[in-house]
Amino acid sequence: MVFSVLLYTSLAIFIIGIVYKVSTWFSRKVGISSRNTKTSGRVFAGLKGIAGVIFGPKILDLLKAFLLDVILQRRILKEDFLRWLMHMLIYGGFMLLLLMHALDRFITAKLFSEYYSTLNPFMFLRDLFGLMVVVGVVIAIYRRAILRVPRMRTNAMDRYAIIIMAVVMLSGIFLEGIKITSHSEFQRMVENFSDTDDEEELKALESYWVQNFAVVSPDVKGPFSEEVLENGFELHDMSCAACHSRPQWAFTGYAVAKAVSPVAVALDRMGSVSFLWYVHILACFFGLAYLPFSKMFHVIATPVSLLAKAVMEPGTSDPLNVATRQAMELDACMHCGTCSLRCSASTAFEALGNEFILPGEKMVFLKRLVAGKTLSPEELKAIQEGIYVCTNCDRCTVVCPAGINLRDLWINVREDLIQRAVPVPCVLSPYSFVRGLNREKLQPYDYPRPVEGAKEAASKDFQNLMDRSRPLHFKGNGSSTLEKLPDAETFAYCFGCQNCTTVCPVVGCYENPEEKLGLLPHQIMCCLGLGLVDMATGPRMLWDCVTCYQCQEHCPQKVKVADLLYRLKNLAVKNLRSS
Ligand code: SF4
Ligand code: SF4
Ligand code: SF4
Ligand code: SF4
Repeated sequence: MVFSVLLYTSLAIFIIGIVYKVSTWFSRKVGISSRNTKTSGRVFAGLKGIAGVIFGPKILDLLKAFLLDVILQRRILKEDFLRWLMHMLIYGGFMLLLLMHALDRFITAKLFSEYYSTLNPFMFLRDLFGLMVVVGVVIAIYRRAILRVPRMRTNAMDRYAIIIMAVVMLSGIFLEGIKITSHSEFQRMVENFSDTDDEEELKALESYWVQNFAVVSPDVKGPFSEEVLENGFELHDMSCAACHSRPQWAFTGYAVAKAVSPVAVALDRMGSVSFLWYVHILACFFGLAYLPFSKMFHVIATPVSLLAKAVMEPGTSDPLNVATRQAMELDACMHCGTCSLRCSASTAFEALGNEFILPGEKMVFLKRLVAGKTLSPEELKAIQEGIYVCTNCDRCTVVCPAGINLRDLWINVREDLIQRAVPVPCVLSPYSFVRGLNREKLQPYDYPRPVEGAKEAASKDFQNLMDRSRPLHFKGNGSSTLEKLPDAETFAYCFGCQNCTTVCPVVGCYENPEEKLGLLPHQIMCCLGLGLVDMATGPRMLWDCVTCYQCQEHCPQKVKVADLLYRLKNLAVKNLRSS
């Protein structure tokens, strides 16, 4: 009764949770492109898209993606064999256990009329699937705690997923092992299923089970005579054999049974079977009910995301479906860290220590932002930096095993932040890449608005800089113009990723480089972008630059950073002479 109430309650929460989560794919808005979409329009567009795929030639792409990407996980295999193995073991073992063992009364018993959980092959398979999950969880812990894959962060949700999986599996294995040794379980079985009350016969049966089924009895102990064992076997064959295979087939539980046999009688008296049963059942039901609201929801969202990727085409898919897909992609992220490992802005993360520069961590933030959670000013600042230093290189999208189009997400959110007028001053320039990309979608009066704000803030900063006493600051006479600067056109492509600054050995010499150097390389490029040439000729950075060309070599936009700094130095000297 208790079992049924718990099972149906957790199943109901699970189903309601899934329906709720899927409904958010159609209602949540990620960034600017989905701002004006309506839920009903997105549902209709989604149904139309699904029908178009099912009844069109794209069904072949869908089936191919289902086999290669969802079942065989080839995107993970391409990246890392150990991770693929871990994923296959956990995912495969978990799904098979769920279907064959947890939902046995609904599925296995209906499919196999002779099903009994203590009979082979079901008993052996249950342990095999369980072992698969345990090995997978051990690999997951090894990768996160010992191997320490670079830039892979472990957050509370990851820990929860590992802990709940470990509790379910270990309690299940220990429950099975201690149940094998339990004398009270044996007696309960005899009371329910034995056809005899004869004490001698029952003792023979008990001896047979102690000898062959690893039961630990406080009453009978081996060695037993051949005659007793033969009598026991006869009764066993008559009453028990139809429902019980040898416990050795349950190899993980049997190993536990052998290990605990010296203390098995005490464990049995303490009621450890009931205790473990409750722990196992409650952990399973809690895990099931909480699944839609936890990271584990990706077991549903990731396959859907991979299938969507297979049938949606960049540039031609219905924008309403793109909005739905972006909301779904947030749930599909499994926080695996592959994107962070390959991110070309990772040098900025190493230098600045802001984990929101890593795409895998930005996904965590984005989920919270889109779900309407309040972020602290510090978090917002860190996230802005993370979004702005992205070089739009697309590497994260290419490697993501969940098929998430990360670059589009960043562009969307970047534009959203610009439109909310919360740009980072000195990073935004009129030539900002994302603004350029979206220019056609913006009203003419909207386009320069945040730029003007940034310009004003930068000018104020410039004034502050000038007020401090710095021997190497040159105040220009205001006559410098962009045209006077050779290579002027190259900084037009700067989108403020900070790569030049993070690789600069001079910047790396200081704990607080801005205090020592005035403006940093990327800020100087942004000054040029904003037309603040006088400001760009002022900072000490120009004179401390060792012309190593690291900045120029690492710039994803091919800005001639080092050449420009050199020319700015000449311009500053010229301005000094003429003033
Ligand atoms: S976005 Fe993709 S690659 Fe990055 S953490 Fe999420 S699932 Fe992994
Ligand atoms: S697009 Fe941005 S987040 Fe993605 S790998 Fe490149 S720099 Fe990193
Ligand atoms: S100059 Fe290049 S490396 Fe530096 S911020 Fe601009 S785009 Fe990035
Ligand atoms: S050339 Fe100058 S600014 Fe560029 S990385 Fe070298 S020292 Fe830094």
